[in-house]
Amino acid sequence: MKHPEQARLFALKQLNLLDTAPSDSFDRITRMASQLFGLPISAVSLTDSDRQWFKSRVGVDHREIPRDKAPCAQVCDSAEVLVIPDLLASNYYQDSHLANTGIRFYAGAPLTTREGQTLGAMCVLGTEPRDITEQERASLVDLAAMVMAQIELQHAFGRVDPLTGLANRSQFSEDLQDLALDSPGEPRAALFTEVVEASQLSALHRTMGSGFLDELAQVSAQCIQETIGLESPLYYLGSCQFVHLLPVDSHASLIEHALNLRQRLMALESARDVSVLVRPVVGIASFELGETAAPDILRSAHAASLDARQMGQGAGVFSAALEERFQRSSMLLADIGRALKTDDELYLVFQPRVWVASGDCQGVEALLRWRHPELGEVSPAEFIPLIENTPMARALTDWVVNRAIRQAALWHAEGRPLRVSINVSATNLEEHDFAQRVLEKLRQANLPADAIELEVTESALIGKGQAAATQLDALIAAGILIAIDDFGTGYSSLSYLHEIPANIVKIDRSFIAHLEEDARIQTLVGSMIRMAHDLGYSVVAEGVENQAALDCLSQLGCNEVQGYLLAKPLPPRDLETWLAKRSGGQ
Ligand code: C2E
Ligand code: CA
Ligand code: CA
Repeated sequence: MKHPEQARLFALKQLNLLDTAPSDSFDRITRMASQLFGLPISAVSLTDSDRQWFKSRVGVDHREIPRDKAPCAQVCDSAEVLVIPDLLASNYYQDSHLANTGIRFYAGAPLTTREGQTLGAMCVLGTEPRDITEQERASLVDLAAMVMAQIELQHAFGRVDPLTGLANRSQFSEDLQDLALDSPGEPRAALFTEVVEASQLSALHRTMGSGFLDELAQVSAQCIQETIGLESPLYYLGSCQFVHLLPVDSHASLIEHALNLRQRLMALESARDVSVLVRPVVGIASFELGETAAPDILRSAHAASLDARQMGQGAGVFSAALEERFQRSSMLLADIGRALKTDDELYLVFQPRVWVASGDCQGVEALLRWRHPELGEVSPAEFIPLIENTPMARALTDWVVNRAIRQAALWHAEGRPLRVSINVSATNLEEHDFAQRVLEKLRQANLPADAIELEVTESALIGKGQAAATQLDALIAAGILIAIDDFGTGYSSLSYLHEIPANIVKIDRSFIAHLEEDARIQTLVGSMIRMAHDLGYSVVAEGVENQAALDCLSQLGCNEVQGYLLAKPLPPRDLETWLAKRSGGQ
């Protein structure tokens, strides 16, 4: 520990009492003190670096006096009860500030925190010399204890989470500061436990009710506390997220601790009830006390947990590489809003789709590109998943739909009626006015419904409930074609296929990549195509990169193909050149 007076002042500052407004909870105690002693003056006096500041006072107007030669300062230094029967009879105090203002009698009891820091004194003062009885001395000590209880109560308020009874985020920051004073530079690990994935919270809330989530937070709190030991502080951050500290050990043992914790959480009855939605993960971030601020520690540990979740692991450790990725993601998320407002950074490229039988190109897929001013070209595969579950998904799809329809209108006007396929995210279908917005834009552009097609992934179509179904029905009723994107990658493909109101199936490029060399994949793709046809879908194969794959798909009866063999996604002018060359060459 640093200089004891410095630590004492720090403890005092931490309580946020100095220079705060008077409060009745303290004034009640000083009034009582005055009455008990039959004395005109009493005060709750806190010893700051150079002054005695009165949190509460009776019989004095000013709120502070100099610390120099103040009896309260002596109480504070000695941490003992001090009685001065007559200030004028004391060599030391006879010329003190108090004596100069006519005070003769002083009695003060120390205000000492549980940790042993003395903050000041509970004191009574009189203008006549006097002594005190043993009983009065005991009362003064009791009053000081009441003041301390009040200080601790006020301090705890706003630091304890009422739901779980655990310390909260503010307390976490504060405890870290205390630890840093005690053992600066010592390594620690923060373990961030998230019981429910943030994006699943609303689903849980909807299906199980808020009572369930409250109870889950409570039983989780108990489970974690028991696992880490009752003497280890555990903090609740809200949204079923907890954090606790451990001394830094090997990575392996931290992970082992984390996985054990996760195992216990998963064994909880309420977690088993909805095991699909309750999936705990633990993120670990190491740091040195006093080197990193609490919010940064939480952010790193949280990032490690997000990463673990994404990788399908129960626990993960924060690393420099993760930090870099995290920084990049944060930057992309922060910048996409700006990019969506202008036409400087985002643009669309178009990849042709070609009919296998005729070689005709009647449609193109619009694919988004982002030329970030600092990061350069960023793949949609990187930034779209970041945005998909944020409110930005709406603005992003609006941007794409607007530009794609504008381009389709240009081509139509030039006598080139290419159908433009637009990728939409699952969350778009949950917007209650999605279909209406799309149809309105088509109308404004004076385009028929079949000028565009929407590509939606299978997982977005299945199990999304009534809201998505309503939007899909409205779009289909208006004559817009719906394609199931990345077909075959979802877990439920075949069995659910008949339930999906769509027109086109796009077989994922992962199947096409090894098509010509793997007979089993050929069988699989063959049966996908046959079944899709039986159910009335047209089939497109994505990612066709070579002639062998095209030949194979042709044999299997695939309707259309898309891929680098034919063309990469192209800017509109290049696509026009490509189209011209094709028709010229045939
Ligand atoms: P996707 O919808 O499956 O798009 C096809 C992806 O495959 C595109 O990647 C395309 O460039 C790539 N591709 C095309 N032909 C070949 C090929 O022969 N071989 C290989 N290896 N790849 C090929 P891209 O443009 O990077 O897009 C990645 C994903 O980002 C898309 O996958 C789609 O899920 C998403 N995305 C792109 N644009 C948008 C958009 O405007 N809105 C939304 N919501 N998602 C988009
Ligand atoms: Ca697509
Ligand atoms: Ca796809």
